[in-house]
Amino acid sequence: MIHPLDLKYSRQMLFEPLGRDGQERLSASSAVLVGCGAIGASAANLLVRAGIGRLRILDRDFVEPSNLQRQSLFNESDAREALPKAVAAERNLHLINSDVQVEGIVADLTPRNAVELLQGSALILDGTDNFETRFLINDFAVKTGTPWIYAAAVASYGLTMTILPGKTACLACLLDSSGTSGLEETCDTIGVLGPIVNLIASLEVAEALKLLSGRLSSLHGRLFSCDVWSGRFQSVHPEVNPQCRVCVHHQFSYLSGNALPHITMCGRDSVQIHERSRSLDLKALQDRLASSVSEVRQNGFLLRFLIPPYEMTVFTDGRAILKGTKDPAVARSLYAKYIGM
Ligand SMILES: [Zn+2]
Repeated sequence: MIHPLDLKYSRQMLFEPLGRDGQERLSASSAVLVGCGAIGASAANLLVRAGIGRLRILDRDFVEPSNLQRQSLFNESDAREALPKAVAAERNLHLINSDVQVEGIVADLTPRNAVELLQGSALILDGTDNFETRFLINDFAVKTGTPWIYAAAVASYGLTMTILPGKTACLACLLDSSGTSGLEETCDTIGVLGPIVNLIASLEVAEALKLLSGRLSSLHGRLFSCDVWSGRFQSVHPEVNPQCRVCVHHQFSYLSGNALPHITMCGRDSVQIHERSRSLDLKALQDRLASSVSEVRQNGFLLRFLIPPYEMTVFTDGRAILKGTKDPAVARSLYAKYIGM
């Protein structure tokens, strides 16, 4: 009788650095994926096919037709039904490899639920679309000593790095959170190509396979960046920042909730997002949004646009009011999509 591992993973076990021992470890391992958009869907697909033991998938969004160009796990039926991505991912991944325990959770990762949702997994994978959530993951990972893999892509460009708390630089070593103020380009304003998200997800999962199979000496330890349009590939070895807020001074301000933008109800059926104080260039924002949303207007003090059924009003100090919902998760999601974090 053929062993179940031989049946499914023979080609992977033939790969000498992994072998049967590596596959057994991988098949007994668990990871949590935060965000199941383009990078997340591709990473989940690869991990489940490779035979990870358990995969928890967190996502706050639902499938839309505009996702299908790059989000390889979803189909037209998911978009027609506007299924939550966590639900569609769990369903579709079960059809791919029913031996893997996939748990899709429809949730927005916040300081309040981070410990509950992230603890117990050997690895955290980045599939998010905003730095607020990445800094939250980084706080949790450094505090608990959990490895995580940073991954991001926009337009034709992307980057990824494996973060081993206590051994490598962390995300805050690379990016001071105050340095992320101002307009950030997002997939919803300047677009994104399928090839870059699949490439970054592939690099992310290759590192995940090493970590989950116990092949830590094979981790490359580099911040890898590439642009599939220009063909520019680069990798550097980041050093720990001796002044790092998180991994040196152990200030977990995102995890404690102190760095979260406050979201409050604002009149009937509206939510106000008090973003970290920053100065927005409304004209630049208007130009950027013109092709992706309707009826963008601005008067120098505020900018307003429609994302039916919602209307968003953004102020020069970074504050925004979203009309049409009382759900803070919806407000945060749309703010991250259209304004950037
Ligand atoms: Zn650090």
